[in-house]
Amino acid sequence: MKDKFIPYSRHFITESDIKAVVNVLRSDYLTQGPCIHEFEDKISEIVNSSFSVAVNSGTSALHLSCLALGVGKGDSVWTSPNTFVASANCARYCGANVDFVDIDKSTGLMNVGSLEDKLRVASKLNKLPKVVIPVHFSGSSCDMQSISKLRDKYGFSIIEDASHALGAKYLEKPVGSCSFSDITVFSFHPVKMITTGEGGLASTNNKNILDKLIHYRTHGITRNKDKFRNQSQGEWHYEQHELGYNYRMSDISAALGISQIDGLQASIKARSELRNKYINDLSGLDIDFLKIPDDVKSSLHLCVLQLSDRLQPRYTEIFESLRNYKIGVQLHYMPVHLQPYYMDMGFKRGDYPEAEDYSSRSLSIPLFKQLSDKDYSYIIQKLRRICC
Ligand SMILES: *Cc1c(COP(=O)(O)O)cnc(C)c1O
Repeated sequence: MKDKFIPYSRHFITESDIKAVVNVLRSDYLTQGPCIHEFEDKISEIVNSSFSVAVNSGTSALHLSCLALGVGKGDSVWTSPNTFVASANCARYCGANVDFVDIDKSTGLMNVGSLEDKLRVASKLNKLPKVVIPVHFSGSSCDMQSISKLRDKYGFSIIEDASHALGAKYLEKPVGSCSFSDITVFSFHPVKMITTGEGGLASTNNKNILDKLIHYRTHGITRNKDKFRNQSQGEWHYEQHELGYNYRMSDISAALGISQIDGLQASIKARSELRNKYINDLSGLDIDFLKIPDDVKSSLHLCVLQLSDRLQPRYTEIFESLRNYKIGVQLHYMPVHLQPYYMDMGFKRGDYPEAEDYSSRSLSIPLFKQLSDKDYSYIIQKLRRICC
């Protein structure tokens, strides 16, 4: 029996990462120093966007993005039910209503046909969303070309929730280039593609949006003389024009992020090799692997297995057996509309049947660079024994 739990994902910290953080600790700035800009520039470079704004979490980046796009009371924001609650909560922070668009259960991604149907109905009722937030679940981009065509027709804004998808590509372009959206959001929580401890970032090509993201990141304060409404009292003068937040990232986190970027491609490669091995070594079992769309190069944040109709009734038992063997399988995700908070708003079982079916048969198995051969063999052995 294993004495240690094998998690579904895990951060990977190198000696260079540690040195980078220690260097900041010995420097003049622990926050609001030079590392933030360097980190933002590096991310913009790898995702091919004009601007990046680093913040203290992916959730903060989603909230700022909603604010920057003017989401407020009475507005409607649509997202996927197959996501972490933060993709929906960001709209609630702004007083907006949340609604969901069902998924394609073979990919876990927002179903564009369902989106189109829902938009057609909403258009007749004059209830179109202000913002749609497609979620690049498991590291695969949604069908952004089709979603952006619907945006052109119906006139909403798009925030890509790419918390899983740093390093992924769609139609040969890096996720985060905002070719089909207004803003793309990333998370740097330790289970994600790279980590800053806690952290997040919003990328955009729109200067106007950039200014708003920066403004709301620091209390709604401006130090731009041209914008002052009162007479400047001297060099120290600043003005608060709106109710913003303190969502800044520290230089300690940013330094870790800069250093972590060096390992991103190797991590994706290792995950890809590991997933291919799983596919080989689990062949013959009554399970499917989550599909990756043809025009996508996934970052492979997650490796999701789906039980066949024959095994599905044993879902809970299989899940618990693997957990008892200390294999850290996880469900990504219990549909957000079934969270009690959202059910209190009137959402109920049956509202998004594809997402519900998906969640009744899916489990994420360990996928990360430093998974040892020994642990890998152990996982294969237990999966083969249990899923028969
Ligand atoms: C992790 C995650 C978030 C939130 O990111 P934090 O950095 O933890 O705040 C949002 N959306 C999705 C899909 C996530 O996986």
